[in-house]
Formats: sequence, C-alpha cells, structure tokens
Amino acid sequence: MDVQCILCDSVEHIDENSLYAKQLKSNYLKLHLCKQCNERIKDKTISRIQTGKFRLYRKEKEEKYI
Ligand SMILES: [Zn+2]
Repeated sequence: MDVQCILCDSVEHIDENSLYAKQLKSNYLKLHLCKQCNERIKDKTISRIQTGKFRLYRKEKEEKYI
C-alpha cells in the first residue's frame, strides 16, 4: 500500500502485511512520517536534549517522587 508523509507529502510504498501497515490501517498510528522526516525530527530532539534546556517529561515526573 502507498502512504503519504504528512510533512513533505512524499509517497512511500510499504508492505501491506507489515505491522506498520496494520497499525496505520487500524488508526493506531494516525500519521505517517517518511524516513527522512523521521530522522530529521529524531536529530532535532536529540540535539535539544543535549543542550540541557529540554528535559523529557517522564524524567521530570520521576524526579518529583525522589
Ligand atoms: Zn517526509
């Protein structure tokens, strides 16, 4: 099946029988990101974490209980 990236509108062909395709079809995943956009977002998130200004919500929550 063909899926369209929500950020750059590029269309990718994915295996219809893959877990990813099933998740998209069952609306478990509502948005598809292509590999390039996925990598771009991952890079930005990692560099933000490394600046120390960005903290993960989960980590802050854990710290409150210490
Ligand atoms: Zn994309």
